[in-house]
Amino acid sequence: MNDKAIVCACEDVSVRDVEDAIAHGFGDIESLKRYTGLGTGPCQGKSCESGAMRICEARKAVPPEAQVPFRARPPFVPTQLSAFAGLELPATGYRLPATRLRPTWGTGPHPLQPKTRLPEKVDVVIVGGGIMGLALAWNLAGQGPQKILVLERGYLCEGASGRNGGGVRAQWTTPLLIELAKESIDFMGRFAQELGINVWLRKGGYLFLAHDDDTVRRIEYGAELQKRYGLPTRVITPGEAGEIVPELDVSRFIAASWNPEDGVVFPWPFLWGYADGARKRGAQVETFTRVTGIDVSGGRVRGVQTDRGRVAADRVVIACGAWSPTVARLAGVALPNVPYRHEIVSSEPLKPFLGPLVSMLGTGLYFSQSMRGEIVGGMGDPDEEPGLNQTSSLRFMTRYARALTELLPVVGKVKLLRQWAGCYDFTPDRSPILGETPGVSGLLQMSGFVGHGFMMAPAVGRRMAAWMAGGQDEIFEKYGLRRFADGRLIQETFIIG
Ligand SMILES: Cc1cc2nc3c(=O)[nH]c(=O)nc-3n(C[C@H](O)[C@H](O)[C@H](O)COP(=O)(O)OP(=O)(O)OC[C@H]3O[C@@H](n4cnc5c(N)ncnc54)[C@H](O)[C@@H]3O)c2cc1C
Repeated sequence: MNDKAIVCACEDVSVRDVEDAIAHGFGDIESLKRYTGLGTGPCQGKSCESGAMRICEARKAVPPEAQVPFRARPPFVPTQLSAFAGLELPATGYRLPATRLRPTWGTGPHPLQPKTRLPEKVDVVIVGGGIMGLALAWNLAGQGPQKILVLERGYLCEGASGRNGGGVRAQWTTPLLIELAKESIDFMGRFAQELGINVWLRKGGYLFLAHDDDTVRRIEYGAELQKRYGLPTRVITPGEAGEIVPELDVSRFIAASWNPEDGVVFPWPFLWGYADGARKRGAQVETFTRVTGIDVSGGRVRGVQTDRGRVAADRVVIACGAWSPTVARLAGVALPNVPYRHEIVSSEPLKPFLGPLVSMLGTGLYFSQSMRGEIVGGMGDPDEEPGLNQTSSLRFMTRYARALTELLPVVGKVKLLRQWAGCYDFTPDRSPILGETPGVSGLLQMSGFVGHGFMMAPAVGRRMAAWMAGGQDEIFEKYGLRRFADGRLIQETFIIG
């Protein structure tokens, strides 16, 4: 077949693009979709999926048992926001039966699991190939010779890092978070030079809308603090906000906080870039490899058990996002993190019209326009029950569509294309857990980033690697697991969504 032949007409993906993805190790259907864009357009793979699978089959990239369809994303056919906004609000609590979500290949190892042997011993095992684990791996590998092994149970992008909204902001309300976010956003601007892949950083600003006096006081406090740390944040009137986004219904809020230097990124290339970069520096990143046990004896970690055998290590980092408590339990450690589903949706692509990411404080609605033109947005649900639930709900679509069309009426006729969900990784004080586990030396924690881990990861990964090399850093004391037992909870994190 001609390598210029189009496989996915919606997203203009050619045979060569598919072959390129396979050559990069992204032959499984979920990675192929993300790496090429295939199946992310209006037809959601209905016209291209079988063609793509045939190419994978011909290249022997995917064994027959792994030739499964994409995970179908509601609403299945492009549907106008106004159609959802007009629905009666469905109750919370409905979940797909767990059996519907079981892997198609059964209970054994993933059919795409590499057949090679894992090393018997390494210096550091990082469990979890999300943004945290990979940012850490790349930074550690840059320190010089040491054996670093990242173990990811699925494809890269399987966890929250592959499911998030890509919002990056320095508008935080504590000096430390401002500092971490500033460093991360600076690094995002250099990501392509450092790691050779475009992450589509678009600095369109962040516009936080306040609908009551309490929230106005919070944004005023935040803006003052941010100014002291060198940010150009200003509290502006609804009229001024309306000049930035003329389509907003400015009667719905009374003030806004505006930092034109915040922005949005395209999350997936971060994971591919960090993984490739870490590999180039000598680290091993193994996908479709699940950690099934953590060996602890004499008060220290000794290694991990996996579905590909045992690996000895003096240091094991748990960077499993919302799954961190499950993995920590393998070492007999109880983490206080609680997962909550967070839903998100993408529209059909539109001509560029929306500069900033807009967030309505109070309702938790947020939305921005991606570089592909889609309106990508989400909204937390105060009635969400805790759990590792990544299903999609009609309730979310109804709440989101109502909130969005009230604030931005012009989008009522815009069609929604794809809805998905990930898990926020909540700790009791909504702040991360970093550093050594009390009572188990060598077992390190790196989780609890709620809904903002992506934008913190470049700085957190660098600082964690420097601290592991012996550097002093206050954040590993401040955010240590011990604070929960000592009752030293952090009171200050400002969450959206
Ligand atoms: C819908 C949504 C929107 C969000 N929006 C934003 C945003 O706009 N900006 C922002 O900064 N943040 C956002 N976040 C939060 C952000 O995505 C997370 O904080 C961040 O991705 C966490 O990264 P992580 O590496 O800790 O976890 P993850 O990305 O979840 O990675 C953990 C990995 O561990 C793996 N794993 C689990 N168990 C095992 C095991 N036993 N063996 C091996 N591997 C295992 C999982 O498969 C997973 O890939 C959002 C999150 C969601 C869900």
